Amino acid sequence: MNKYRIDRQELISGWDGFLKRKVHLIACGGTALTLLEIKPSTGCNLSCVFCSVSEGINDKIDYLVEPDYLVSEIAELVKLKKSKSIEINIGPQGEPLLYPDLCYLIEELKKIPKIDIISMNSNGRLLTKELIDKLIEAGLDRINVSFHSMNEETQKKVSGSAMSISNFKELVVYAKDRIEIFLAPVYIPKLNENIEPLIEFAKSYKTGNRIIGIQNFLNYKGGRNPVKQISFDDFYEMLAKLEKKHNIKLKLNPEDYNIVEDKVLTKPFKKNQTVDAVIKLPGRRNNEVIAEAKNRSITVYDCKFEAGKEIRVKLTRDKHNIFSGSRG
Ligand code: SF4
Repeated sequence: MNKYRIDRQELISGWDGFLKRKVHLIACGGTALTLLEIKPSTGCNLSCVFCSVSEGINDKIDYLVEPDYLVSEIAELVKLKKSKSIEINIGPQGEPLLYPDLCYLIEELKKIPKIDIISMNSNGRLLTKELIDKLIEAGLDRINVSFHSMNEETQKKVSGSAMSISNFKELVVYAKDRIEIFLAPVYIPKLNENIEPLIEFAKSYKTGNRIIGIQNFLNYKGGRNPVKQISFDDFYEMLAKLEKKHNIKLKLNPEDYNIVEDKVLTKPFKKNQTVDAVIKLPGRRNNEVIAEAKNRSITVYDCKFEAGKEIRVKLTRDKHNIFSGSRG
């Protein structure tokens, strides 16, 4: 598998268009919220059968983004926000514990004025007591753990890798009074339908408004789709029944995370616009490139990588300040 590390040297060499894009992609600078999602890396130690981004075993190129660059760009984005309580969510396409500079990144982000909470989405497989201590010391406030069953066989079936439930429970007990451990299982029809033991486990160590965040499995074009998703109506009906039975809130809203609307980053282009761009990097998939225009990066589909080539791109996406398109 090809791996790229985006570092200061490359930055000086002119990869900043890509980095800008990564920052906007990860920071969701275009969303009018007090939550900024950052993706410092790609790649995963698991290969879940339901993964919406087909991470793990695949033939995609992986990227690492240099932490100092991320921090300086995020500091600029945060300045735009009116709120004095911003949450940064580290949620890469893959597993953040594989990012070599994770603790340093958290430490530096925590120094930025207005950044109040730092959370991280993780599959939890690489957690140890020592690592938990380091993450807490760095300033991490919450780990959203994608943990899908209390049954080891089911856990293995959905994630493709064995996991000791008793070890995981021990880690939760070790950490729970110093950092929020929030279970975030995906409900996958036919694969892990017995979600109730997870609810009971979460209740055994957690109180408050958000005890567990069950997500509905959704079919994505670029993801692994072992089963058909259920409708949100059916999903919420199931949650309502479970809420009653377990006397717990399961349908969570942005307010449960203290996420509110805030200022949005201005978009330099709009969907359907044709822009002149320069190819900078190969994209993650075959026949895909990352091009730069107006100091932003654009994923261009069906395009051969030729560094420095000038191309015209018809934008097909501008949502959340993430731009993509095809040769125009
Ligand atoms: S842990 Fe998450 S990112 Fe990794 S393969 Fe599983 S679903 Fe995908």
